Amino acid sequence: MMIDYKKLNLKCGLEIHQQLDTRKLFCDCSSAMKNEQILTIKRKQHVVAGELGEVDFAAQYEFLRNRTFHYQIFSGEDCLVECDEEPPHPVNRKALEIALQIALLFNCTIPDEIHVMRKTLIDGSAISGFQRTTIVGLNGYLKYKDKKIEIKHVSLEEDAAGIVEESAGNVTYKLNRLAIPLVEIGTGLLIGHTPQEIQEIAYLIGIVCRSTGKVKRGIGTVRQDVNVSIKGGKRVEIKGVQTLGLLSKVIELEVKRQLSLPEVKEETRAVNPDGTTRFIRPLPGAARLYPETDIPPISIDKKTIERIKKRLPEPWTKKLIRFKKQLKLSDELSKQILRSDYLDLFEKIVKKFKVSPSVVANVFVSTLKDLRKRGEAPVENLTDEDFEELFGLLEKGKIVKESILDILLYKSKNLDISIKDCIKKLELETITEKELREIVKDVIKMNRDKPVEKIIGIVMSKVRGRVKSENVVKVVKEECNK
Ligand SMILES: [Zn+2]
Repeated sequence: MMIDYKKLNLKCGLEIHQQLDTRKLFCDCSSAMKNEQILTIKRKQHVVAGELGEVDFAAQYEFLRNRTFHYQIFSGEDCLVECDEEPPHPVNRKALEIALQIALLFNCTIPDEIHVMRKTLIDGSAISGFQRTTIVGLNGYLKYKDKKIEIKHVSLEEDAAGIVEESAGNVTYKLNRLAIPLVEIGTGLLIGHTPQEIQEIAYLIGIVCRSTGKVKRGIGTVRQDVNVSIKGGKRVEIKGVQTLGLLSKVIELEVKRQLSLPEVKEETRAVNPDGTTRFIRPLPGAARLYPETDIPPISIDKKTIERIKKRLPEPWTKKLIRFKKQLKLSDELSKQILRSDYLDLFEKIVKKFKVSPSVVANVFVSTLKDLRKRGEAPVENLTDEDFEELFGLLEKGKIVKESILDILLYKSKNLDISIKDCIKKLELETITEKELREIVKDVIKMNRDKPVEKIIGIVMSKVRGRVKSENVVKVVKEECNK
């Protein structure tokens, strides 16, 4: 069934959350999420009614579920601030500057003064029962297909703790994700777009954030919420779309779900891995924000804004043209690397090493995708330094591009050894033309009656990943014609 989204008057609002690659927002803890768990603490949550006098309906709903929360604490990644036993430290200036940069890239107006607010969070994902948030930009826009997409706000906020498991009356959270700086970008209502177009807009927002080179990458570092409504229907908020490519499907399925029901309730739903959704709670009311009294307002002077404006990164539209013209990447590959989490590392590597930009782009786009599919070890195990070492060796001719997948696979499973050692273990060091010629001569001697193609095949199986395939063809032909 083809759905006419214009006729249905599909309205969507996007909220994109992107983690920043800095230390935590209100303390000096690491945001790496790599350290060991040292203890677990147990708490009950209480609804904070005193501050505004009115208890939020959604908060009350969570409270009524009356659960006990268990928080896993990690070495170097949690301190008394995350545990709500110590007041927040002043805001992380680095994170604030990146957020301001993003707000300026979206053409937002920057407020003269930044006020930190508390947002009620009673699902237990913060020990304090709230999340700190502050608006750093308002009323911006993003150009999309000659249209201006309204960017209502850019906020800088604390990430909430990540859920580990949930059972009857008990929920366990990892506290190391709490307070990782997060930029939230909220669009105005997107009306008259197809789900595919809304996904493209989300992609563009991601590209703009990533162009700062200061955002985290990998699963869970970007999360999107989308609210969906159709003609005569109610607003449904869908939370936590973690894969950008899933967004259009989520919207399509939600429209179908709303069409199939006689009446739609305003509610919050969560995404399942297949793009369907499940009910989590009624839609939160408006009484969710109140001032954070522990942090005085931060004034943003004109000088600071001017300084940040001068150092804004190259716009993605220019980047796209440069990738095609200067780096000779195809249109498709240019777009893929722009969307990639590895955009900044890609740029760093092609600047630093004399290697083919399309080989580097393909590693970040295709090879890593293959590795993810194989699922033997997380791709996130590979560090920037690993990639630099790898492409440094490729530049020096110590490896060939055909062996990159095997090297990265091995490295992702063996964290404590270097790329160089992986190459040794896998016996993938390149061989010289002289060594190749000796191997070819031997193979010919043993297979005198076989055609050239067969000889090439046998030699290839012996030297795969250690010499360029075109060299094998060349040497075999030369030796056969002798
Ligand atoms: Zn801390």
